[in-house]
Amino acid sequence: GTTLKLILGDQLNCRHSWFAQASADVVFVLMEVRQETDYVLHHAQKIIAIFAAMRDLARRLRAAGHRVHYLAIDDVDNRQSLTANLDWLLAHYGADAFAWQAPDEWRLDRQLADYAAGLTIATRMDDSEHFYAGRDEAADFFEGRDAWIMEPFYRHMRKRHGVMVSGDGKPAGGQWNFDHDNRERWPGLPWEPADPRPRHDHSALWQTIEAAGVRSFGTPQAGEFAWPLNRDEALQQLDSFVRDALPHFGRYQDAMSVRAWRLFHSLLSFALNTKMLAPRTVVARVEQAWRDGAVPLASAEGYIRQILGWREYVRGIYWHRMPGYDQLNTFGHTAALPHWFWNGDTRMRCVAAAIGQSLEHAHSHHINRLMVIGNFSLLAGLSPQQLHQWYLGIYIDAFEWVELPNTLGMSQYADGGLLATKPYISSAAYIDRMSDYCKGCHYQKKQRTGELACPFNALYWDFLLRNEKQLSNNHRLAMPYRQLQRMDDADKRDIQCQAAATRAKLAAL
Ligand code: FAD
Repeated sequence: GTTLKLILGDQLNCRHSWFAQASADVVFVLMEVRQETDYVLHHAQKIIAIFAAMRDLARRLRAAGHRVHYLAIDDVDNRQSLTANLDWLLAHYGADAFAWQAPDEWRLDRQLADYAAGLTIATRMDDSEHFYAGRDEAADFFEGRDAWIMEPFYRHMRKRHGVMVSGDGKPAGGQWNFDHDNRERWPGLPWEPADPRPRHDHSALWQTIEAAGVRSFGTPQAGEFAWPLNRDEALQQLDSFVRDALPHFGRYQDAMSVRAWRLFHSLLSFALNTKMLAPRTVVARVEQAWRDGAVPLASAEGYIRQILGWREYVRGIYWHRMPGYDQLNTFGHTAALPHWFWNGDTRMRCVAAAIGQSLEHAHSHHINRLMVIGNFSLLAGLSPQQLHQWYLGIYIDAFEWVELPNTLGMSQYADGGLLATKPYISSAAYIDRMSDYCKGCHYQKKQRTGELACPFNALYWDFLLRNEKQLSNNHRLAMPYRQLQRMDDADKRDIQCQAAATRAKLAAL
């Protein structure tokens, strides 16, 4: 009999055991469907990148002798939902078995499990063979512990997988974490390395997507498309990153600049999250570079912590807390996102830069996402649910399992502090310390009140005042709360007035 095997758009691992041997009894199915383009408004590059990479994998599988049924977005047979397509494909091939790989999104996991439960043929969910940890491994690890703190989980992962540890289980360099070495502003040198990504012309694909009526936002950059399509391209990008950027990664990890949107980041999240690149491959390559003496320990450790630590950890949170996690809203924030989230048109230079590059590249690095866009949103009281939809749509690497805990948990503290030990908030001072954004900004970074005061300032103090009951006991916020105690009441009132006025005119900022 024939087995139909479904490959989702973020399951593009050409080295999966499914593909070890070609068989006439197996038909692999990939489909471009409106169900997946439309569950949120997506950045144009995200749609192009996923479709192009799916098409690339399909070509490779065929070339290796596999049977592949590919449903393009404009295929007349396409019913535009996973299950409607599966219905007729199973019938068409007279399949007597159906298999899929474990989805990473709760939504798809449910849909496919429910669908399979209703079939009368044999069904099976296989591992996606990508992550270090199983879905429930973090939850098991944290069972009985007070708090979900990333660091102990990360150390556990280092030991368990023998990453940068010596034979007796001690961390390389005698220390697990070198984060304190990683907090510098970028002075403009060393130069930002050349963009290591390949270039492709996807104009024809983009036309097809538009003609099919798929809505999107952001710049398509279809003619000079810059995201990798397959493992080979991702590996080349990894090599350039390790050679040119990784040596400086740790040091400037938190830096931001209008002159350099990528700085020393890897831009590998798309390749990783679509699984064309395995985390083990990346970690091994980075560890080797350190062993070879090509990169400093702090950079290698800092980078590996993002992948072996943070990435696996947030996935654990997602599976531990879904369903329901996406609805949390500790502070009860409900303000709608101002229009400039979709065009970057604000006079706050930092926000304009961070959103502007997100619209242009479908990417922005961590500190822009966290300390500029996320920080502003939390201080301004934007709805975490709307914000989650925006992050899920705009970033090329956004898949709910990783985007949701980062947005709702880390950046908005909407889960009441499950993931973040304090809200990631700051006034203009932090942004100014870590970037060149404030220079030349319409707003004054040192002013708290007045027409030209940087909106972050009043909003920051007002946020702390508003949430004093809930947050003043947090020892990580002891410093600002001591500062507030010293502030006289008239100043506090002025700040609150300024903040209220700011929140009333977000669209005009
Ligand atoms: P690098 O700085 O080069 O880091 C290397 C890799 O480490 C990344 O590719 C990523 O796989 C991993 N990593 C780093 N930080 C995190 C993190 N906090 N959580 C999980 N993995 C991490 N990352 C996504 O992959 N998808 C998202 O949708 C996403 N949404 C985010 C939303 C917010 C509000 C915030 C604050 C962060 C978000 N991140 C997300 C995490 C991080 O910003 C991106 O992984 C990173 O910017 C991707 O670019 P890069 O590959 O150049 O990363």
